Amino acid sequence: MKNLNIAVLPGDGIGPEITAQAVRVLQKLSDQGHFSLTLQEAPVGGAGYRDSGHPLPKATLDLAKSADAILFGSVGDFSLDTLPRELRPEQAILGLRKELGLFANLRPATIYPELAGASTLKPEVVSGMDLMIIRELTGDIYFGKPRGIRTLENGEREGFDTMIYRESEIVRIGHVAFQAAQKRGKRLCSVDKANVLETTQLWREVMTALGKDYPDVELSHMYVDNAAMQLLKNPKQFDVMVTGNMFGDILSDEASMLTGSIGMLPSASLDANNKGLYEPIHGSAPDIAGKDLANPLATILSAGMMLRYTFGMADAANAIDAAVQKVLAQGVATGDIDRPGAKRVGTVGMGDAVVAAL
Ligand code: NAD
Repeated sequence: MKNLNIAVLPGDGIGPEITAQAVRVLQKLSDQGHFSLTLQEAPVGGAGYRDSGHPLPKATLDLAKSADAILFGSVGDFSLDTLPRELRPEQAILGLRKELGLFANLRPATIYPELAGASTLKPEVVSGMDLMIIRELTGDIYFGKPRGIRTLENGEREGFDTMIYRESEIVRIGHVAFQAAQKRGKRLCSVDKANVLETTQLWREVMTALGKDYPDVELSHMYVDNAAMQLLKNPKQFDVMVTGNMFGDILSDEASMLTGSIGMLPSASLDANNKGLYEPIHGSAPDIAGKDLANPLATILSAGMMLRYTFGMADAANAIDAAVQKVLAQGVATGDIDRPGAKRVGTVGMGDAVVAAL
């Protein structure tokens, strides 16, 4: 039987509560004979700082490097916000991305029928929406050099950054996107601004050439301004979208908010060998931490993505997705997805319901 070697990094705030429920779900699948599990836990974020003076302690990083995949809760602790930037909890994520070469960020945005009313858009516009945004995570204007703020001869200051992508970087995110599309609805929309930016003109050329290797995937291109508009106008037209770091940063937040339920959205960040870090898109929610109020479904669905993308276990991943759908159909709800007639539960109660549905 395949053994899954998983590093569990619960982090801060609600992190420990929600990862505990995702671990229960993985253990249930293990009990059912899908795989065996090696789980090792380590502190990260504010918890890492309190433990050993750094948000990404060396022992935690070593564990993350040696594991096949990482289940990450959330980091963030307002009481540590006065620390120098490099010691703040959020630096742990940036450090892990960099150290592990996690260049591909996968963010599904799915509307469950029971939650269509939670979106700020009309239910008929969003119901049935099921898209995934793939964002390149380690390049683009966020990392390009030169950058800075300089003073011109006339004394005026000028800020500048460099948008830059190498062909090899576009190829590697392109492969991830085409392969994700093959696992879903076989449609890929590449988002750029090729009419104005040379960098994204190259992006479009490389994506088009790559498309020849994937004849079963229907490739289209869209300018980013139109993509922002189309996500609000008709989000159901999209299956997989792929884009650079900056456009992806903005569009993935826009898409996730179409669902209206932050506690439901998982994510994956992958390296070149499909090793990945899996985490809910939300933060550490200090306002509800330790109160058994947090929705663990985003983290449970992140564990499902781990089974699908790192371990290639589609059956086990589908079992998690189906269990979550069943629980929602039963009307079980944490406070953030509460609705008339729902059965209110806490974090643990939601974990109980998913385990029972499995
Ligand atoms: P947040 O996502 O933690 O919370 C925003 C709101 O959504 C809060 O009202 C919170 O109670 C609610 N919420 C979030 N997750 C929920 C869940 N699972 N169930 C129910 N309700 C949920 O964002 P914030 O309050 O702006 O930030 C809190 C801390 O988290 C900050 O320190 C921030 O830097 C950090 N943060 C971390 C990550 C990460 O770990 N990847 C991401 C975003 C923010």
